[in-house]
Amino acid sequence: MPELRQNFFTKEWVIIATERAKRPKELARQQPAKRPAAFVPTCPFCPGNEDKTPPEVLRLPAGDNGPWQVRVVANKFAALAREIQPVRTAHRSRRSIAGFGVHDVIIETPDHSHVTALLTDAHVANVLRAYKSRYDELSLDPRIAHITIFKNHGLDAGTSLEHPHSQLIAAPVISSQVRGRFQVAMQHHDEYGECMFCQMISEEMAEEDRIVMTTEHFVALEPFASPTPFATHIFPRRHMASFGDTSAVEIVDLARTLRKVLGKLYHGLGDPDFNYTLRSSPAELTGVKYFHWYVSIIPRLTRVAGFELGSGMFINTVPPESAAEFLRNVKTEAAGAVSGL
Ligand SMILES: [Zn+2]
Ligand SMILES: [Zn+2]
Repeated sequence: MPELRQNFFTKEWVIIATERAKRPKELARQQPAKRPAAFVPTCPFCPGNEDKTPPEVLRLPAGDNGPWQVRVVANKFAALAREIQPVRTAHRSRRSIAGFGVHDVIIETPDHSHVTALLTDAHVANVLRAYKSRYDELSLDPRIAHITIFKNHGLDAGTSLEHPHSQLIAAPVISSQVRGRFQVAMQHHDEYGECMFCQMISEEMAEEDRIVMTTEHFVALEPFASPTPFATHIFPRRHMASFGDTSAVEIVDLARTLRKVLGKLYHGLGDPDFNYTLRSSPAELTGVKYFHWYVSIIPRLTRVAGFELGSGMFINTVPPESAAEFLRNVKTEAAGAVSGL
């Protein structure tokens, strides 16, 4: 029977359409995407072309001019500009702010042909350390209201550059979507005296049906009202509103969890296009008791069509319980054997 389910946080309704249920294999890419060469001379992110990117902000391992694993540079085609001030103007119905902000590119590996799922855990930990270092630094800037870290993998996820990279955009405002969701979370905390995410995580861990994997510090699960097939969330098991509060030990554990989940998607669904985003509290709300940061991974297996555009409701043809069971059973090969680093 089809079922309508409501997301506890966004309050959006989703139709879980079991009648049209697709088996995971039907959604998988039939022929794995052709991997490019390890080095592309014209690619600005490949080693040797460091002078073709805007100035470097950070590199790991830190230090001299030795080989790098991860580089952070300013985005050449930045959506927002760091050298201007966020001056506001308001005139009746028209409000605007000069486009101040920071737009970084995190180059995840020198190897053009790599995918995150096939890097080592230690390498992914360096990518996460680069995220956190930039996140921590930018959170201290009083002009920054909200920082979004995200990755687009594949054409359907909006990638324009093949070389593995993620991005960070620090904006001077908080979107009304984020404000609205925080309002819901705050109200829940006022009414029940607990974080709605902590509550959900403990219920899901007790029930197990939608759990993909757990580690000492993190849990990966398919949301109960998952809007799209194989949408997967990774939550820290202890309460934390901000990604910036993640400890060094937790970063290592998150790297293992993220790589493994991406590995399950890569091997189980034939390297699907995907986006992931870190959903963390705005800088001014670090430490609040009512919000819990998480990583949201959205494989791009289906397209948004007329019904979704018209109603704001999604139809998901893979019940999250089936998606979780499928992913639990996908074996990911041992990391390290594949990476040359
Ligand atoms: Zn490259
Ligand atoms: Zn919590």
